[in-house]
Amino acid sequence: MVTPGMPGNGGRLRRLRRATTMVALAWTLAVGASLSWNIFNAWENVHVLAAREARLHFSKDQAIRYWASRHGGVYVESDQRTPPNPALSHVPERDLTTPSGRRLTLMNPAYMLRQVMTEYSEQFGIRGRITSLDPINPDNAADAWEAAALRRFEAGEREVFEVADKDGEPHLRLMRAMMTEASCLKCHGHQGYRVGDVRGGVGVSVPLEPYFDLARHSVRIQSVSHGAIWLLGLGGISLVGRRFRAHTQAEMAEQARAEKLHRRLDLVLRAVNDGIVGIDRRGRIRLVNPAAAAMLGYETSELLERDLHETLHHARADGRLCSEADCPTQQSMRDGVSHQQVGELFRRKDGSLMPVEMITTPLVEDGQVVGGVVVFRDVSDRLAAERSSRELVEKLAQSNQDLQQFAYTVSHDLQEPLRMISSYVQLLGRRLSPAMDDDCREFIGYAVDGAARMSRMIADLVEFSRVESRGGPLEDVDAGRVIADAVANLSLAIEESHAQIQVAGPLPCVVGDASQLVRLFQNLIGNAVKFRSPDRPPCVRIGVREMEGMAEFSVADNGIGIPEEAFERIFQIFQRLHGRGEYDGTGIGLAIVRRTAERHGGRVWVESAPGEGSVFYVTLPLCGAT
Ligand code: ADP
Repeated sequence: MVTPGMPGNGGRLRRLRRATTMVALAWTLAVGASLSWNIFNAWENVHVLAAREARLHFSKDQAIRYWASRHGGVYVESDQRTPPNPALSHVPERDLTTPSGRRLTLMNPAYMLRQVMTEYSEQFGIRGRITSLDPINPDNAADAWEAAALRRFEAGEREVFEVADKDGEPHLRLMRAMMTEASCLKCHGHQGYRVGDVRGGVGVSVPLEPYFDLARHSVRIQSVSHGAIWLLGLGGISLVGRRFRAHTQAEMAEQARAEKLHRRLDLVLRAVNDGIVGIDRRGRIRLVNPAAAAMLGYETSELLERDLHETLHHARADGRLCSEADCPTQQSMRDGVSHQQVGELFRRKDGSLMPVEMITTPLVEDGQVVGGVVVFRDVSDRLAAERSSRELVEKLAQSNQDLQQFAYTVSHDLQEPLRMISSYVQLLGRRLSPAMDDDCREFIGYAVDGAARMSRMIADLVEFSRVESRGGPLEDVDAGRVIADAVANLSLAIEESHAQIQVAGPLPCVVGDASQLVRLFQNLIGNAVKFRSPDRPPCVRIGVREMEGMAEFSVADNGIGIPEEAFERIFQIFQRLHGRGEYDGTGIGLAIVRRTAERHGGRVWVESAPGEGSVFYVTLPLCGAT
């Protein structure tokens, strides 16, 4: 029944923190990798773009050269910048004069290109060059890098790229092999070249500094944007991490609360001596407290998942088998109302039957019965005790009845010899009267008086014994009538003592035996008058108040009062607080009052201040109160 505490709540938080750190690290690595890749690409692009530009220039130069070659060179006006090419001295029409006298000279492709390259390269920054290991023009002699490239061409390569410093600046240098074509032989045929031979190389140098600037700019932008994204990502991760942590902490707190509640509930269930069984809607046992398991002789786990009715609720108290339809638990699941039973039988594991007092309370959620709680206790002892006390009461009633019968018979039978004693003593007194002295007359007076007192005592005893057995039926009685009769019966004593009797307000209807109630009030009012104070005339006030279906009568006097320690004693039989010389009486009146009140379902008690007066209270059931 006890759920073990969830271990590692602190561990959960630690794991969460570690996971957040790992995600942040992974994010940093991813952003770093992206930045590196972008930087790498930016620098890589420098070469790609520079190479493209170099190839573009190269292609353009090539196109011009092809064009010039196809036309066998071009004629231009010769001047100082463009003197006749000595390398073409073997060409008969190298120099021509136009009819208008302008002097033209033939520029072969290489000459033409070289002029373009040298004159305009400064202007555009891109420098082209034609070189050869065997140049006709010594200006075309290859430098060290070019010579190495030319040698690689001869070995079969057709293009060489390299980043190299030129005039102290980084350049991308491209050089392609220049193959001997038929058109080349016009100028270079005399050098022994054949078509297809590597004639030389055409190179292009692209300054890299502008590309480097571009790359640096791109790297800066990439770094800043990656940095911003990285920071944003880190912020997001830490925010989500914090949210997760807060959520986890709240969850943990909730879990701790639930566990605490569960533990308390568990303690309560363990502490309770009654059996508690929780069932689902179909009557399957879902929860059992130790007291229930112990009473039924099972282990807690043995009862779980079993059907309560089939397992425990076997037979009815009258010996018939208990069907599911009659089972109060099943009934609760059907009608959603609590059902309480005393004396239902539960079957223990060993097969013995145990009488129980049980109550099934349905659990209702959204108007639907979802299960129930059965609380039960073993009432074997109680039923046995009830049985034996019932038997005892029956026996007592019987012996009481026997005793009352005995008391009545004895009392009745005693009256006769007593009357005889009294009559004969009086007769004796009368016969011997002339010869008797005063002492003898006094003795005879005592004997007659004693016999009379004994006769009254026997009569009171008979009345006491008959309160229960010979009482009339309890019916609606007008309390006003009862008290009026009681006062009327006491008229002589009231007159003699000049007593004042006051009855406050209308008196209610009570349920009782009218003649017994007259006797009850007669005893109380009679005592109030009898035990009057020698200093003042007696005044008796009778009042009533109604509460909880009962009428509470009070009979208050201004008499001699009763000490507190005698409040209880005066209601016992033959208990008197004064000698016969002071106040006459048998000491049975209040005992009869108590017995009468109890027979009517009420009670009697007294409050008093010695020397000031007493108030006797009697409660009697009101008419119509259930
Ligand atoms: P009895 O009146 O015959 O003596 P009761 O049973 O009526 O017997 O009363 C028992 C005793 O209670 C009385 O002897 C008396 O001492 C005391 N007692 C009863 N009523 C009063 C009262 N109103 N004032 C003072 N004492 C009382």
